[in-house]
Amino acid sequence: MPPASASTGRTTSRPRRGEGQWALGYREPLNKNEENKKNDDGLNVRQRIIDVYSRAGFDSIDPADLRGRFRWYGLYTQRAPGIDGGKTAVLEPEELDDRYFMLRVRIDGGQLSVAQLRAVAEVSTAYGRDTADITDRQNVQLHWVRIEDVPAIWERLEAVGLSTTEACGDTPRVILGCPLAGIAEDEVIDASEQIRQVHDDHIGSPLFSNLPRKFKSSISGCSTYCTNHEINDVAFAGVLGPDGTPGYDLFVGGGLSTNPMFAQRLGAFVRPDQVSEVWAAVCAVFRDYGYRRLRHRARIKFLVKDWGAAKFREVLEKEYLGYALPDGPAPELDPGTRRDHVGVHRQRDGRYYVGFAPRVGRVSGTKLSRIADIAEAHGSDRIRTTADQKLVILDVAEDRVDSITAALEAEDLRVRPSVFRRQTMACTGIEFCKLAIVETKARGADLIDELERRLPEFSEPVTINLNGCPNSCARIQVADIGLKGQLVTDAEGRQVEGYQVHLGGGLGLNSAFGRKVRGLKTTAEELPDYVERLLRRFLDQRADGEVFAA
Ligand code: SF4
Repeated sequence: MPPASASTGRTTSRPRRGEGQWALGYREPLNKNEENKKNDDGLNVRQRIIDVYSRAGFDSIDPADLRGRFRWYGLYTQRAPGIDGGKTAVLEPEELDDRYFMLRVRIDGGQLSVAQLRAVAEVSTAYGRDTADITDRQNVQLHWVRIEDVPAIWERLEAVGLSTTEACGDTPRVILGCPLAGIAEDEVIDASEQIRQVHDDHIGSPLFSNLPRKFKSSISGCSTYCTNHEINDVAFAGVLGPDGTPGYDLFVGGGLSTNPMFAQRLGAFVRPDQVSEVWAAVCAVFRDYGYRRLRHRARIKFLVKDWGAAKFREVLEKEYLGYALPDGPAPELDPGTRRDHVGVHRQRDGRYYVGFAPRVGRVSGTKLSRIADIAEAHGSDRIRTTADQKLVILDVAEDRVDSITAALEAEDLRVRPSVFRRQTMACTGIEFCKLAIVETKARGADLIDELERRLPEFSEPVTINLNGCPNSCARIQVADIGLKGQLVTDAEGRQVEGYQVHLGGGLGLNSAFGRKVRGLKTTAEELPDYVERLLRRFLDQRADGEVFAA
């Protein structure tokens, strides 16, 4: 197992100007975030929430907890209503704070039972004004949560085995997993057990509760690589190993945001029984060698970029694992494969799974409760969230497929969605996010409706992702059409909400970051016209067999 804290005698020499790497002896905090984490472990805030803050109310909350440690339990203050995007960068953080919270429920592997989905739905309706969003990291986010209600919410969620522990903060976040793990006819390996092990062994452990920044994991044996190993901090991607038995190819250092980087293959094969240990070792390398001086350089991708894959693997094996991993093959990626698992498809046991699309992940507690009812009425106890803001119900008997499809469609949950409903995602945006400059969810939903009306026959695969700021929570750099929220100048010279356009991004065989075309911006109002023009031009000018995707 990796050491509890960084040891001395590392192979890397100490540079004159440090990046705050613990392993090189830089233990004194170099910024306020590091100081807060050193002062008190984020995990300790739970008891204060239960004993003090939930009883004494919002005004009793220590600011270092409110804007720091609360995240260790998935709690962010949401944006106070009515503050426009122009003020995002100029106001102090406390001026943007509402007295209500966003609460993120982690759903590792996207795996939910009917009882768990019901619990989330009930929390939403009882404590979250019926809000609920499916995120592109398979979580559910609720809004309008009061600090007074948090202990009761935890009690309700924990009674069914769910939690909000390390759903945010400088911690190991939710572990992505294929929604079809264990049932897909063509999966390389069922990763459910490895996800459970990593979760049970390490989430909530003080060994990993003070990382330089967030740490995003994916463990999946999906043949379409639906959890996007290319852009996770650490990813175990299912492959057949040197002797033909299934295991994982190890990737580190992927991430988007303002400095997008694709993960690097270490070329190492990891057996299923090694995953938890190797995951912990990678996380420990990040904890000890990660850059803590500047927040914007603190993700593991910067370390991996500076070291390269060979050095990272050497340090991982020599200093942390104490043994060498065998070389292994890379995943076999198919060109043009859709990763979203939408629609009706056969499972390997002869039953069916039904994937369906709300608009840009937005549902509600009431809607989640209906989904639980529908799943149960059709004999299923397994619901899954996807990394594309969609949902899947598993284990439907063949003779119930038509009935469940009709029931979902009647709830405006499309089993056979238009390409626009299927492949448009939006982040939280200005409605609740304090970093946002523009609206995204409502704009994304309107865009889908408009494009369905204007281009009813359009069926080419095209991803359209909207972000409310330069961060990339909705993965704009790997969309065919990525829309980065910012203020733009309209025809009358006014500063209005709009988007910088990125074109041609994608994942898989042709992974590429979208190109930011100079001057290519659109106001939010003109967005449907802009996208329509772009898609019509593509239809008019494309060569035979050409797809919009990169
Ligand atoms: Fe907030 Fe920006 Fe992330 Fe959207 S991309 S949720 S606006 S931080």
